[in-house]
Amino acid sequence: MNHIAVAIDGPSGAGKSTIARAAAAQLGFVYVDTGALYRAIGLAACRAGVRGDDAEGVCALLPTLRLELTYVDGTQRVLLDGEDVSEEIRLPEISKYASQVSAIPRVRAYLLDLQRGMAKTHSVIMDGRDIGTVILPDAQVKIFLTASAEKRAARRCLELREKGQEVTHEQVLADMIARDRQDENRAQAPLRQAKDAVRVDTSALDLAQSIEAVLRVIRDKLHQ
Ligand code: C5P
Repeated sequence: MNHIAVAIDGPSGAGKSTIARAAAAQLGFVYVDTGALYRAIGLAACRAGVRGDDAEGVCALLPTLRLELTYVDGTQRVLLDGEDVSEEIRLPEISKYASQVSAIPRVRAYLLDLQRGMAKTHSVIMDGRDIGTVILPDAQVKIFLTASAEKRAARRCLELREKGQEVTHEQVLADMIARDRQDENRAQAPLRQAKDAVRVDTSALDLAQSIEAVLRVIRDKLHQ
């Protein structure tokens, strides 16, 4: 059976995960959140007392890690050495580690097969930074999902506060801009719109409209 792959890339806070998850549920596809994999490696580095930008230290950890994606009631969970770390990897300090470790070429190479393997065995909506450009260059549908930095920070702030984290808009915006810069400027697989990706800007859209816009692109492409 031929599986369908939808690649959704874009900066942090553009709503990729919420939108991709909802679109995948509607289409009956598996949603793969690849950021969670970088976050899990970031968490492993943090726990081991290794700095995220210490490439040698992080690479030395890789062979000792067992990283798995599993699905519970259709929701992705990330297991690190058998432990479900899906909640812990969302802490703001782990975002920074994730961004740092993701700039290390061997970390990206380490995660390549896991990501491609998911798309070989399932129809997927996979979100990340380099899915359409590097991981799944032959994806049938590629979307670059974006929104203004202000809008993205406002949404992320709300999300973190709902989880009980005390954050300020200024701090979230500053973190977001720093992370965007790091993702766009790294030598390895920088955040770029794939040539054949459709750009969807959600700045002026609410969640339901954003999901609808993404579903429309997917359906149009698949019925061409
Ligand atoms: O998407 P999320 O914010 O969870 O990703 C965490 C970090 O992992 C990002 O800042 C980015 O640096 C990195 N990442 C990546 N490539 C991906 C997904 C995430 O470099 N495909």
